[in-house]
Formats: sequence, structure tokens, C-alpha cells
Amino acid sequence: MSSIAIHPAVDSGFRATDAAFTGGTLVCKCTSNPVKVRIKGDIAHNHACGCTKCWKPEGAVFSVVAVAPTESVEVLENGDKLAVVDPAALIQRHACKQCGVHMYGPVEREHPFQGLSFVHPERFQESGWAKPGFAAFVSSIIESGFDPAKMDAVRAQLKASGLEPYDCLSPGLMDYIATWTAKKSGVLAA
Ligand SMILES: [Zn+2]
Ligand SMILES: [Zn+2]
Repeated sequence: MSSIAIHPAVDSGFRATDAAFTGGTLVCKCTSNPVKVRIKGDIAHNHACGCTKCWKPEGAVFSVVAVAPTESVEVLENGDKLAVVDPAALIQRHACKQCGVHMYGPVEREHPFQGLSFVHPERFQESGWAKPGFAAFVSSIIESGFDPAKMDAVRAQLKASGLEPYDCLSPGLMDYIATWTAKKSGVLAA
């Protein structure tokens, strides 16, 4: 049975998580005048994502995406090449107009993820970033055209790679969102 191209960072085996990783510079795919975005500090909640909105490298079924505080994100070079993919979306994905890589996606409206930016750590020019810890929105890969008959195989392969598959976010993040919502509505004490 041929294996499924989950994502290069997953299929090649994870790069080791380096506890000393203190951020780095994300670089787009342009060979000249690439967009460079500095992330100060480590990333969090790194995961594989099957949604249709995340940027994915060529041939990959999943993205690898993590968050960093938006205040830790700084566009260093060629920011004039960036454009927001969908201004109506919760995540304001800033993509390079030339190569298409999503460089950072801040959440600006009131939401549990407000103040965080979504980034693709594979674009770090440095290694050592936290490895992906789970797979989110797995069923959504069908919306991108993935064969529904192969979903058992993809979930098995994710588990074998150490990524527990979920069809939304991980239980920890879903609880975090629900807690924020409950405190906002007042059913839980803030
Ligand atoms: Zn580019
Ligand atoms: Zn996604």
C-alpha cells in the first residue's frame, strides 16, 4: 500500500523539538526578494491541519500550522508583497502575492484566539521548532478532493506518525474555546 503524502515535515520524520528554540525568521518561497517575517519566541499548538484554508506545500494533503502571539510577529522584508487572502475570514492570512505562501495570519476580532497569529513553521529558516502534536480538521481533506474511501488509511497513518486525528481541533483547544464562550456568556465565572 502506498503511503499518503501527509506533509513533508511529517512524512520525513519530525525534526527534534529544541527546548532552546527562541523563534526565528519565516521566509517565503520566492527565490528573489522573499518576504521575511520574524517570530520572537517559540511557537505553540503546532499541528497538522486538513482544512481547506491553510496553505499547504505542493502535493501535501495537510498543512502544518502553529500559533505565536501577534505582538511577537514582525515583517522584516518585502512586506509590500503581502496581501490578505480573505478579509472576511477570522484568520487574516497574509500571503505572498508572488509565491502564494501564507506568512502569518492574525486573529484580530473578538475570539478566543484574538491576539494570536497562525504561522507555518516549515518556513522557518532555522530548525528546532516544536514538532506537530496532533492532526486537526481531518475529515475536511475530503472537501479538497481527497478520496473518502481512504480516510481510514489516512487516520491510521496519522496515528502511526504520532498525530492523533481529530475532526475539529484537539480536545484541549476545543475546551479552551468553550470555556472562553461560557465565561463570555456568564454561565461560568470569569
Ligand atoms: Zn513569495
Ligand atoms: Zn487549517
